[in-house]
Amino acid sequence: MLRVDERFMRAAMAQAQKARLLDEVPIGCVIVREGKIIARGYNRRNTDRNTISHAEMNAIRKASRKLGDWRLEGCTIYVTLEPCQMCSGAIVQSRIDRCVIGAMNPKAGCAGSVMNLLQIAQFNHQVEITKGVLGEACGQMLSDFFRDLRRRKSREDSALAEEPAADPENEPDPEIESANAFCS
Ligand SMILES: [Zn+2]
Repeated sequence: MLRVDERFMRAAMAQAQKARLLDEVPIGCVIVREGKIIARGYNRRNTDRNTISHAEMNAIRKASRKLGDWRLEGCTIYVTLEPCQMCSGAIVQSRIDRCVIGAMNPKAGCAGSVMNLLQIAQFNHQVEITKGVLGEACGQMLSDFFRDLRRRKSREDSALAEEPAADPENEPDPEIESANAFCS
């Protein structure tokens, strides 16, 4: 099973790379049913200028279109980063069976980090969770993205300033810090 999970997580990571090419936080997702990918999605929040354009929301929309049903029973969703409150809510609402997660998101994740919306006993649907599938690789993708963003930002700052800051790499940038708290 783990091998299969890794295969689909790699497909989700390929989606995350599409986000990265658009300068978006690299988060990707695929939805699998009966061993086949039926929908893919990646983060397009800035590109679409839309709060709800997270990887999971985009994939859920496509999966519903493909199946002709809002119910995604029998489906597994693979996400490179632990889903946020909105996406976790949509995963429960769409009745997806299982959620496989790459990296956890301690600041914003709602599949066990900040809270666990996927497994609230009072709701009529709970989602099985598998964590840490290619977690390091998924986390590394995000770290690389934010490192490049910091470097680019410090280069821009240096170009503007007469003298570069003493150690721009270590200066927390509020914009970047808030992006860091981003969830898929
Ligand atoms: Zn989300």
